[in-house]
Amino acid sequence: MTAETGARLTIDLGALAHNHAVLLKQAQGAELAPVVKADGYGLGVGPVARRLHESGARTFYVARVAEGEALRRELGGREARIYVFDGAVGDLARFEAAKLTPVLTSAEQAKRWTGPCALHVDTGMNRIGVSIEEAETLAHSGRRPDLILSHLGRAAEPDHPRNASQLERFRQAIAAFPGVPASLAASAGMHLSPDYLFDQVRPGISLYGGGPLEVSDARLRAVATLTAPILQIRDLRAGEAVGYGAMFTAPAPMRIALAAAGYADGVLRTAHGKTSGFVGGQRRAVVAITMDLIALDVSEGQAALGDEVEFLGPNIQLDDLAAAAGSVAHECLVRLSARAERIYLG
Ligand SMILES: *Cc1c(COP(=O)(O)O)cnc(C)c1O
Repeated sequence: MTAETGARLTIDLGALAHNHAVLLKQAQGAELAPVVKADGYGLGVGPVARRLHESGARTFYVARVAEGEALRRELGGREARIYVFDGAVGDLARFEAAKLTPVLTSAEQAKRWTGPCALHVDTGMNRIGVSIEEAETLAHSGRRPDLILSHLGRAAEPDHPRNASQLERFRQAIAAFPGVPASLAASAGMHLSPDYLFDQVRPGISLYGGGPLEVSDARLRAVATLTAPILQIRDLRAGEAVGYGAMFTAPAPMRIALAAAGYADGVLRTAHGKTSGFVGGQRRAVVAITMDLIALDVSEGQAALGDEVEFLGPNIQLDDLAAAAGSVAHECLVRLSARAERIYLG
């Protein structure tokens, strides 16, 4: 039994460094520029970015200006380029003060900001970025960004024809900027083929243990582990319900354990009935998830008060939890809340 009574989030920075090394090999010489937006995918941008810097990363991506400012503070005096996906928005003095580099996403931004920048070209995802024609116009006006990037919309589906068409449009866009480095692939795109690697890759989720194709990848290690102790064990008669409403009704007599974690700690409520908790060397069905408690079926095998149950980690993999919740690994990580006690290893 441990001293802690609630959920505990263990963040294994050694596993992060391991995943970085695996992806670096996959990058085949392209620069690996980690994406650490949303507080390092919920795992703490300071410890995450410092560990990646130690592994050799010198270029980082965030989404928002405030995230860039926080990252610059967390890196202290360490030398690093910080790109901001949102581009040159808001008070531009903030970019200069924190030495942030905008990823320009429109022709208007290219007028507002004349300093060092990357240029985001939309090649068919229709989310953000300048069109190929706008990029060509900028090139003809003599504008030379430090990097040209684009983002793939269907890279987790290797056979989707959109990948090849985006690759072709990207090649067209970069042809307007001879000599300027290019970046197309995030975690999933890195695994399509070496054609997608270019000069720099921008993985996020795979650094944190999520498989590039939305299923777990045995080469990657779990960075985040969420555990909680069993607070109570109770026997149910057939027909008795657990928790609010009718989330779960025992079909037969059974024994359940209540562990001290809930959706307030970030275990997505929609995963109940489909995910498991790992305790006593076995996976046990999670039958209900409330704000503070998770109910598991412990009718078979051993489980005792105080035993730690893993809800995410090496045994309950991120991609499986995401699939059970009807979500993606990215969301499972960023939802991990501040309530769970955090411990950093390595
Ligand atoms: C979030 C993001 C990434 C990283 O994506 P992952 O799927 O986490 O690897 C890369 N590039 C852009 C433009 C992004 O928005």
